[in-house]
Amino acid sequence: MNSIAFQFAPAVMIPAHLIGEVQSKLAYVDERIACAQISPAGEQITLELKHAVSDAEKSQIEEKVQRVVVSMAQGAIRPKVQVLEDYLDRPTPFTADPMPELLRRGEISQEAPGIYALGPLLSRLIDWFESRFLDLAGSFAAQPYRFPTLIPARYLERVGYFRAFPHSLSFATHLPADLDQIDAFAEKAACDEHGNLNVPLQRFAPIQTLLSPAVCYHLYFTLADQTLPPQGVTATAVGNCFRYESLNLQSLERLWNFTMREVIFVGAKEFVLENRERARQRMQGIFEEMGFVYRVESATDPFFIGEFRKQAAFQSAFQLKYEIRARLPFKESTLAVGSYNYHQDFFGRHLNIRLPDGSPAHTGCVAFGLERMAFAFLAQFGFDPSHWPSSMQETFR
Ligand code: AMP
Ligand code: ZN
Repeated sequence: MNSIAFQFAPAVMIPAHLIGEVQSKLAYVDERIACAQISPAGEQITLELKHAVSDAEKSQIEEKVQRVVVSMAQGAIRPKVQVLEDYLDRPTPFTADPMPELLRRGEISQEAPGIYALGPLLSRLIDWFESRFLDLAGSFAAQPYRFPTLIPARYLERVGYFRAFPHSLSFATHLPADLDQIDAFAEKAACDEHGNLNVPLQRFAPIQTLLSPAVCYHLYFTLADQTLPPQGVTATAVGNCFRYESLNLQSLERLWNFTMREVIFVGAKEFVLENRERARQRMQGIFEEMGFVYRVESATDPFFIGEFRKQAAFQSAFQLKYEIRARLPFKESTLAVGSYNYHQDFFGRHLNIRLPDGSPAHTGCVAFGLERMAFAFLAQFGFDPSHWPSSMQETFR
């Protein structure tokens, strides 16, 4: 048996722009990994394991890590980052990490990694942002929708989600309709010291349903196999979203269960692109009034290893995604609090959503992560409302 931390060089150099992306994927490589770090120059990987393992096991883990590195970094070309707005140099009245104060005030209560109950201050802040987002939705006359938290596996399969994001899926099941099995469960079910239920998976019904990873998919499914009205469809909804982020789950920055507000556009290409751009400009006004510190730049989705290079390159080339990255002064970094997305006719083709001329519809969405919005706000403005934007002082007095 050997020590629990070890280092090695990546099989190919990891370019600076991919370090964060590769490191976050290392969290999914092996259950025995407690922490995976790539050095800032991309020439060394350090793994910490949960317990000591044999040399053979170590090489097995290293081989899996190298698979990730090679698949994501070999021949990778740095995408040109396009910056649409840059207000990162606005001053902030606060520079500390809000987490300790949130804990001290009982504003957050962690139920499990990535799962938090939020208290009155965070809830009110989220409501405040929600009313801004509802104003934005109202400015497009977006129709309100309410979507379920669960989503059929068949839906996600139809839009290629299993291939693109298998690592972050969350599954939902239930007991089979069988009196003996339900009785046995009621009598014996208990959690062990790790919180694991002592019931084998084969005692559950086959999985037909997952926890939804996004809001807008539900709208696309309601429109499947239909011809759109000439003016297209503009909708808004807020919902619980689930993305399992393994070891990356930390603080309010990266949650397993979070809420997203979306404004969604379905119609002709120009309709979607123009509205996405209008939404960005309207949000720019709202952020300016607040003095929010952020930048909007081109981005890619966190596709899984095998799909990453191809899909990320495609997204960059066609400028399909822009992120609103808020400054976190306490760690001198930024956090994506929202995104402006264009999916071309991907959903139109896969779900047979047609324009009046019979061609596939285009889709796009503007998505805001509510917990992250509130967290980034507190990281920039702190807990003393007298330092907050004047437009908020009335509400929070
Ligand atoms: P996306 O569809 O990936 O652009 O996500 C839209 C927004 O949801 C992001 O900009 C974040 O604000 C939020 N979000 C995505 N993943 C998470 C997560 N794991 N935890 C908290 N918020 C998230
Ligand atoms: Zn969306």
